[in-house]
Amino acid sequence: MNEHSGSDLKPRTVAAQALGTIEPGTKAVVPPVHVATTFIRDPDNQYRSGFIYGRPDNATVRQAEAVIAALEVAADAKLFGAGMAAAIAVVLALDPPAHIVAPTVMYWGLRRWLVDEAPRFGYRVSLVDTSDLAALRAAIRPGATKLVWIETPANPLWTVTDVAAAAEIAHAASAILGIDSTVATPILMRPLALGADIVMHSATKYLNGHSDVIAGALATARKDALWTRIETVRAGHGAILGPFEAWLLLRGLRTLDVRVCAQSQAALELAQRLAQHREVDHALYPGLPHHPGHATAARQMTGGFGGMLSIRVKGGERAAIAAAARVNLWKRATSLGGVESLIEHRASIEGPTSPCPADLLRLSVGLEDVDDLYADLDRALRAANE
Ligand SMILES: *Cc1c(COP(=O)(O)O)cnc(C)c1O
Repeated sequence: MNEHSGSDLKPRTVAAQALGTIEPGTKAVVPPVHVATTFIRDPDNQYRSGFIYGRPDNATVRQAEAVIAALEVAADAKLFGAGMAAAIAVVLALDPPAHIVAPTVMYWGLRRWLVDEAPRFGYRVSLVDTSDLAALRAAIRPGATKLVWIETPANPLWTVTDVAAAAEIAHAASAILGIDSTVATPILMRPLALGADIVMHSATKYLNGHSDVIAGALATARKDALWTRIETVRAGHGAILGPFEAWLLLRGLRTLDVRVCAQSQAALELAQRLAQHREVDHALYPGLPHHPGHATAARQMTGGFGGMLSIRVKGGERAAIAAAARVNLWKRATSLGGVESLIEHRASIEGPTSPCPADLLRLSVGLEDVDDLYADLDRALRAANE
């Protein structure tokens, strides 16, 4: 029972009240967790509640989906058991031998799946620098390309792709544009309004925000045939998010706006300070004027440039790994988007085929005091070079 549509309200309000949903039976302001896997038929053999079985659909999952759809201003949203499951559902909804164009710089796990696994399902994949629009245009195979996939800002260099231009290029070839918007979040960017067809999030990251749920989301511009295929893939593969995870995600979403705004502001401040640091060769952050994607990011993102940045350490790979080993406050772990700040030597996890430089440290800025974060990193960087 929605008290309002959400469309006339600011994201912070939509998220904080989880669309103002009140549980009808008890009037509880916090929804219950619907755990039932099966539902009673009506006396006349119908299923009017809209629920039949827990694999295709779940009421708690639907509540979290409604909040995400409202935040993305989408026609619909679906939640999956992981960001990877969400992205892969988009691919599996296409008829092979569809051709897919994806970025060279992107979340490594999905790049690896596209390169190693997607061909086993009959798909053809080309990797290209999607921030170079001429290169993107050239990678399209007219008639064969069905999906252009982008990620912006993209892991781990925070490469920026022009969403509106990529949408135009995809649509001119009758392909759809799918975008991994995990890092931007619906608070800082609305890809559907820029022309994208499908938005994907690793909800494990900012949407949940507390490093305690693995989840993925898709939001669509239209409830069309492709979306129906995606629903079929999710139901058939059992890829729906579990109800407990959906409930935690709904709770995390309530603070999304305040978290992302604070993390984004702290990341900008850290990027500015680290760019001047004597042990840092280069700070990579779309909010810095010298970043190659700055102008595009400033155009398509509003309210900030996100909570992710990377630094390239002057002492090279050895000093980068040594600095990551010497921080106390920053947690040396993979993943991103949680309330606790994380630091990671990305090349160690991405392996030799990665475009990630060996001297790069990836920083996920949490909600700690920015001076504490800087002091910890400053100490570690200096010590690493001794
Ligand atoms: C983590 C991540 C993914 C994968 O999401 P999972 O929830 O771990 O499956 C995809 N894209 C980006 C940008 C990510 O950070």
